Amino acid sequence: MAKHDLIVIGAGPGGYVAAIRAAQLGFDVACVEKEVALGGTCLRIGCIPSKALLESSEKFLETQGALKEHGIDVSGASLNLANMHKRKDKVVKMLTTGVAGLFKKNGVTRYEGSASFTAPTKLLVTGKDGEVELEGERIIIATGSSSVVLPDIELDGARVGTSTDALAYDAVPEHLVVIGAGYIGLELGSVWRRLGAKVTVVEYLDRILPGMDAEIAQDALKTFQKQGLEFRLGARVTSAKAQGEGAVVEIEGQEPLEADRVLVAVGRRPNTDGLNVAAAGLELDKRGFIPVGAHFKTRVPGVYAIGDVIGGAMLAHKAEEEGIACVEGIVTGTGHVNYGAIPGVAYTEPEIASVGKTEEQLQSEGVAYKKGVFPFMANGRARALGHTEGKVKVLADAGTDCLLGIHIIGARAGDLIAEAVAALEFGASAEDVARTSHAHPTLAEAFKEAALAVDGRAIHV
Ligand code: NAD
Repeated sequence: MAKHDLIVIGAGPGGYVAAIRAAQLGFDVACVEKEVALGGTCLRIGCIPSKALLESSEKFLETQGALKEHGIDVSGASLNLANMHKRKDKVVKMLTTGVAGLFKKNGVTRYEGSASFTAPTKLLVTGKDGEVELEGERIIIATGSSSVVLPDIELDGARVGTSTDALAYDAVPEHLVVIGAGYIGLELGSVWRRLGAKVTVVEYLDRILPGMDAEIAQDALKTFQKQGLEFRLGARVTSAKAQGEGAVVEIEGQEPLEADRVLVAVGRRPNTDGLNVAAAGLELDKRGFIPVGAHFKTRVPGVYAIGDVIGGAMLAHKAEEEGIACVEGIVTGTGHVNYGAIPGVAYTEPEIASVGKTEEQLQSEGVAYKKGVFPFMANGRARALGHTEGKVKVLADAGTDCLLGIHIIGARAGDLIAEAVAALEFGASAEDVARTSHAHPTLAEAFKEAALAVDGRAIHV
């Protein structure tokens, strides 16, 4: 039986980052991962390949007329989907092998196979080379999540599938029906719309992007509709299955939709199948998550859990923060995640990014707030780029002026939000941001102007 100071189960962004940090702090660390490639859903079949396709499909779209306004006439541009996928695969390969390189550099031992508890500190790893028994003084469970499948949705991977399938369609669907207007549905729906598919998004709620600020989500809806995405809101899908050459999607109280591909993007559920958590003495909560207390400790001494498998926002960067905080908690006794300053980004065009409280949250909590809004239309750099859609919305405490929430829809919002996150982390006020010099001309100036607008002092509107 091989023994280690710490064994991490799962090499996604939570797990691999935790393993590397523990190795940096002097632990003898092992990481068990069932997939050949490291990096988890995010690197292999999630964030990274979807961003590669989002970038490529946007470039394709630019050749279909958008470059004209820049004085560039493109003729003869055509889609080579196979090559687009090859590029995406190359990006994924470089990053997943990069994680393997980081493990090597940091002396993290890698076990390839599925881990299953045999005792609180013992695991049986079953892989293609047989079984290995491991013992860890401590174990971190970082097994992530998988796509939720609804009871009457018959996934066949070909016509009715999840995001993994939608990242690899070998032809542009004629009609793609997306179930769920969350991050995945809108990002991948956008990709295939740009490449020429008719896309219908069916969403149970009467709005898109649940959890995001409602005003920004409404702006986003209008933009997506202008881009040609069709929406059926307040529509609950009751079943979806392959039929004939295509698929049929049944919607409560409405005409069914016919499609040649269906993407099911209705959320994710924690991965605990096969872990045999009972052998460790662990119990799952009602929704299947692993409950944790302070410092990500489970009820079993020496066993910790982080990332999607413990619930909360299912985001790679949230898992990374938890991985670091968990390991530092073990080694140094301190480790903290500020859940109030975890950004969320939808990488659509324009991007939508958010941190802190939404306006609806502040209203329901009875917090008195001030609001400043600045449109990208009035930002010089946005004009020069030709991306004038969207705005920055800053919410600050009415009494103290402290920033409470920042919501952006616009070009590169996913990058712009970093400044807002830093400002929230440092407890900045709208006045602090308003008095901070921002390079001109940059999109970031829109954040400064929105902060000025909190007190009616924006210069360019
Ligand atoms: P989601 O929770 O963001 O959205 C799912 C949507 O499906 C919801 O709006 C829900 O109302 C709807 N829905 C559920 N059942 C339905 C039904 N029967 N009929 C119609 N609509 C229905 O989930 P997702 O988009 O699948 O993403 C899963 C997770 O992955 C999220 O937690 C997200 O945080 C994460 N993710 C993040 C990013 C990013 O950060 N850019 C990208 C992809 C995924």
